[in-house]
Amino acid sequence: MYNPKSMKAEEFISHDEIMDTLKFADEKKDDLEYVDSIIEKARLRKGLTHREASVLLACEDEDRINEVYKLAEQIKKDFYGNRIVMFAPLYLSNYCVNGCLYCPYHLKNKHIARKKLTQEEIVKEVTALQDMGHKRLAIEAGEDPVNNPIEYILECINTIYSIKHKNGAIRRVNVNIAATTVENYRRLKEAGIGTYILFQETYHKQSYERLHPTGPKHNYAYHTEAMDRAMEGGIDDVGLGVLFGLELYRYEFAGLLMHAEHLEAVHGVGPHTISVPRVKRADDIDPDEFDNGISDDIFAKICACIRVSVPYTGMIISTRESKAVREKVIRLGVSQISGASKTSVGGYYEPEPEEDNSAQFDVSDNRTLDEVVLWLMNMGYIPSFCTACYREGRTGDRFMSLCKSGQIQNCCHPNALITLKEYLVDYASDKTREVGERLIADELKNIPNEKARAVCGDYIGKIEHGARDFRF
Ligand code: SF4
Ligand code: SF4
Repeated sequence: MYNPKSMKAEEFISHDEIMDTLKFADEKKDDLEYVDSIIEKARLRKGLTHREASVLLACEDEDRINEVYKLAEQIKKDFYGNRIVMFAPLYLSNYCVNGCLYCPYHLKNKHIARKKLTQEEIVKEVTALQDMGHKRLAIEAGEDPVNNPIEYILECINTIYSIKHKNGAIRRVNVNIAATTVENYRRLKEAGIGTYILFQETYHKQSYERLHPTGPKHNYAYHTEAMDRAMEGGIDDVGLGVLFGLELYRYEFAGLLMHAEHLEAVHGVGPHTISVPRVKRADDIDPDEFDNGISDDIFAKICACIRVSVPYTGMIISTRESKAVREKVIRLGVSQISGASKTSVGGYYEPEPEEDNSAQFDVSDNRTLDEVVLWLMNMGYIPSFCTACYREGRTGDRFMSLCKSGQIQNCCHPNALITLKEYLVDYASDKTREVGERLIADELKNIPNEKARAVCGDYIGKIEHGARDFRF
C-alpha cells in the first residue's frame, strides 16, 4: 500500500503506485488541457506531484515540451540565477564487497587495479585539488568494512579539512559512501560533512536485486531507507540520484520524485540535491548491455521535468556527460557541476599509468578546471566556489525556508562573486582572469540591495589585497 509517510521502502516507493502513475501518465499525456493545467501549476514554483510530473515527462506534444523547457529555464534563472556551483569528486578507495553489475569496482572484477589512498596520499591529492582552485569535494568509496571502515572515512575527512596549501582550503566535504547505520551517520555529521549523497541506482526492486546480486547492497530496503537513517543521525542535507539506463526512465523518474515526497512528508525537508548520472563505459562494463539507455534528448527532458517539479532542489551533473550535453542541461536547470574530475583512486597529484587503471567510469569531459570556468563565463554563467550555507549553519529546513522565501538569492549571488574573485586571483590563467574580472564588475551591479552591493564590493577589494574567506 502506498504511503509517503511510511518508513518502509516498499510503501513509500510503492511499485503499484509507480505502475498506476505510468498508466495515468499514458492516459493523460494527450489530454492537452490537463497538460496545460500542470504547466500552469508548475509556474507557481511550488513543485509538482510525481503523478503530475510523470504526465509532463510522458507528453509528446512538441509545443508543450517546449513550454516545459522554457519554464525550466525560467525557474532555473529565478532560483539559481546564472550561477553554477563547482565541485570535484575524490575517490578514496575502490575496494568493494558488492557485486553491482554496472560498476567496475564490483568484487569479481579481478583485473582492475585496487587502490586505497593513505593519509599521505590524500594530502597530495587534496593539495593538487586546492591548487586547481577547488573548495568543495565529494568523497567516494566502495563498500568494504575491512578496507574502508567508517573510521577510515572519518580520518580522511579530518585530513581533508586540515590541509591548507597556500590560500587553498576544502570548505565543504560531501560524502558518497554506502548505506550505513544511524550511528555512523551521526559520526559523519560530527565530522562536519556537507551533503550525504547516495544514489538509489534503480527504484525498481526486482531489477535492483538482479543488478546487485551479492553483498550488503543487495538489500533493497536497507539501501532505500538510508536517507531516513541519515536524517535520524542528524544529517540535514541528503542527495538523491538514480543511474539512468538501468531501468525504464519513466519508472525511475516517478520513484525519484516519490522519494523526495517521502523525505518532505516525514522530515519536513526534501532532498538537497538530485544527481542525474547515466550508465557509462568503464573497465568490465559495456553500457550497451543495459537496454534502457536514454538519448540525449530524453535526458534533457528528464532534467527539465525535474527542474519544474522540485524547484528548490539543486541538480548535479558530472563529467560523465560531454561538454555538449552539459551545455544543454545547465540551461535547463542543473545548478552544480564537477570540473577536471578524476574518477580513479588518486590521479590528481599525478596521472595514473594506463596499465594501472582504477577508474570507476570514463570521463567524457576532460577539460581543466580553468577551461571549464572560462567556458561557463563565456556562456554568461558565474562559476561559484561557494560553500557558505553549510558553514553558516544554513542546512536542512533552515536552508529550505530561506530558499522558499527567495532570501537565499541575497547570499548566493554575492558569494558567487566573492569566491570567483578568490579563484581568479589565486588560480586562473590570464585569459580567464580577464574575462572573470569583467564579469564580476558587471554582476556586482546586479546585487539589488545597496548595502549588500557595497559590502560585496568591499570584500572583493580586500581579496585583491590578500584577504580570503568572506561570506554572506
Ligand atoms: S557501485 Fe558502489 S557498491 Fe557497487 S560495486 Fe561500485 S563502488 Fe561498490
Ligand atoms: S549561499 Fe548557500 S545555497 Fe547559495 S551557493 Fe552558497 S552554499 Fe549554495
